[in-house]
Amino acid sequence: MPARATEFASASGSVAGAPIGEIETRAAVLREPGRPVAVETVVLEPPRRGEVRVRVAAAGVCHSDVHLADGLLGDGRWPMVLGHEGAGVVDVVGEGVTEVAPGDHVAFCFVPSCGSCGPCRSGRRTLCEVARVSLLAGTLLDGTSRLRDLDGTALQHGLMVACFTEYAVVPVAGVVPLPRSIPLWQAALLGCGVVTGIGAVNRTRLRVGSSVCVIGCGGVGLQVIAGARLAGAGTIIAIDLEPEKLELALRRGATHAVNATARDAVEQVHEISGGGVEHAFEVVGSARTIRQAWDALAPGGTATVVGVSPRGVEVPLPAIEFLSEKTITGSYYGSGDVHAAIAELSQLVVDGRLDLAEVVSDLIELDDVEAALERLRRGQGARSVIVIDEALAGAPR
Ligand SMILES: [Zn+2]
Ligand SMILES: [Zn+2]
Repeated sequence: MPARATEFASASGSVAGAPIGEIETRAAVLREPGRPVAVETVVLEPPRRGEVRVRVAAAGVCHSDVHLADGLLGDGRWPMVLGHEGAGVVDVVGEGVTEVAPGDHVAFCFVPSCGSCGPCRSGRRTLCEVARVSLLAGTLLDGTSRLRDLDGTALQHGLMVACFTEYAVVPVAGVVPLPRSIPLWQAALLGCGVVTGIGAVNRTRLRVGSSVCVIGCGGVGLQVIAGARLAGAGTIIAIDLEPEKLELALRRGATHAVNATARDAVEQVHEISGGGVEHAFEVVGSARTIRQAWDALAPGGTATVVGVSPRGVEVPLPAIEFLSEKTITGSYYGSGDVHAAIAELSQLVVDGRLDLAEVVSDLIELDDVEAALERLRRGQGARSVIVIDEALAGAPR
């Protein structure tokens, strides 16, 4: 169903025929944790200065959406339009926007970094302090929302993107231009899963031939595996509870698959690697699996925690093992420059060296978002992609 609008644009600054002014759009709204996320009609204001509106083609359902829906990332984060991984076509640009133009294909980026705060200046743009404040408040960068429900209540923008809807207004730094040759249903994965997973590998400065284990082979874990393969890792051990995801992991470059339901995963990693791996990636977000990543390391190894744990989770570690010079670190959203990373990774996709389609386990409609969240809660499937605009998304039927 197309969005309803009172006016239609023909001026520069918008795609011909695009509805301008306030529009109504169907959106998946988290009303409160514990209540199923349902689609409702909401009102979206036009982009202000430095913002753009995107006609959303497709969006990926990520584990962080589950955490938000379950209220595990802190109180006060609802009502919210969910969705932070997606791609679409810019259809209206606000005043002062020169970086993209109407008609451009883009992926969303949920840390529209300012470029001038302390972390940005030191090259750690994903830790931008300015973006973080708005991200936690559920607003855009000016501290306000462009979204409200039909009763007039303001709705939060999920991670400053809110793309489980037909149209999204975001800061211009929240979109990254894409080559047109990447189908948008695949490009949807670039802005969270791909950048997060492959960026975590880049953070480790993994050597050619290194031994690696990846705990959790969902939408992000499968990208870590692809990244480790591209970086030249030798042994890549994939660990999961689901045989289906382990098969995907092997297809993506894992050399060994460990089913953690059968036997202790850490024991199996030590057997395969001959005493532990140099790099362990945790891509689940739980105390138990973070401890497994630590225990899987050889002396001198590094555990990188990529999974998002619920607030309040603590992880005890055997401190004596710091004598063996093990390292544990985090990686958030690829730990680099997201715009540069998406450009580089897009080129790998265009060159046929990085396959995006194979990690998509389910193509679904917007109304099926709660079912997709439920599959993630159960650890089933890799990535569900919501096809929001069939013609733009170009997905197989
Ligand atoms: Zn995500
Ligand atoms: Zn900044």
